[in-house]
Amino acid sequence: MTLSNQGRNLLTKFWIVSGLVMAVCFPLSSMGGEGIYLGETVQQLGFNRVAPPKGFESETEKYTTKAGVEIIAERNREYLLANGIKVYLSNKIGILKSKLTVGRIDYDKVIVPLFWKIPTPLPSTHRIVIDAGHGGKDPGKLNVALNYVEKAATLDTALRLKLILEKRGYEVILTRDRDVFIELEDRPDLATKHKADLFVSLHFNGGAAGDTTSSGIETYCLTPATQNSTNAGKAKGDTSVEPGNRFDSFNLVLAWNVQRQVLAATGAEDRGVRRARFAVLRTLNCPGILVEGGFISSSKEGAKIANAEYRQKLAEAVANGIGDYAQTLRAK
Ligand SMILES: [Zn+2]
Repeated sequence: MTLSNQGRNLLTKFWIVSGLVMAVCFPLSSMGGEGIYLGETVQQLGFNRVAPPKGFESETEKYTTKAGVEIIAERNREYLLANGIKVYLSNKIGILKSKLTVGRIDYDKVIVPLFWKIPTPLPSTHRIVIDAGHGGKDPGKLNVALNYVEKAATLDTALRLKLILEKRGYEVILTRDRDVFIELEDRPDLATKHKADLFVSLHFNGGAAGDTTSSGIETYCLTPATQNSTNAGKAKGDTSVEPGNRFDSFNLVLAWNVQRQVLAATGAEDRGVRRARFAVLRTLNCPGILVEGGFISSSKEGAKIANAEYRQKLAEAVANGIGDYAQTLRAK
């Protein structure tokens, strides 16, 4: 009880802080030239791309829904056509890698109110897609001494988590329930297909070759819109906006709750709630996270992960984190 109250207080502070950060960042970001891909955004809503009508230039995209809603956008136009009606934008339609883009402010002020179905009042948490990372020809990371691979650990943990969540009344769908290869992009697509309320991808970390000491747990959410990622390399400076960014606040709250429970259960080193534009998170149509439940490559932590009791503990902790997240939403 006390713990949960503490959690709530912390969370309240957290919301205030993130609110301030948002207030500071958004006016700046809207001045930047970054755009978001129109196609990826509207396809999440059931729009399909079709051939543009005659008379339009080549750099035109048209999208329709089965219900007959239609969007036409043309490069350098100051508006898009929504069912034939001109809707003016703050920035002209742009283009990036041969795909049309809309500006950040237009995303917020036009695309969102017109086309996104904003979850009301708050996202549900009933149907959960659990994604066991890797599989088949992709083994993931490895503990050399134990000859234990990530794909086996993620699958076992996912199966355990499924049982626990089902006992607690959730509906659970697995992206894989055996040792098969699944493309990264197909995993969030499966969540969309099943109209999932939550997506949780399970992974274990690995250090560089020969590293048997790095350890700790980290939970990723999709990098908030226009912000920098925490992962190194060129992806860090990519400040794009993704369809999954509609759930920025929820992603963060979910990640925070799961990370907190997993650390409490395992005593593992806190590597933090991190942010990355992972393929399994980018196009999600619901809140989602990716948990790196420890270093399988570590001689110490890897030996724990190879132990079924430890994986059970991890699975229970992830389930508890999901429960806390659900409770946080209900409490709002
Ligand atoms: Zn992995």
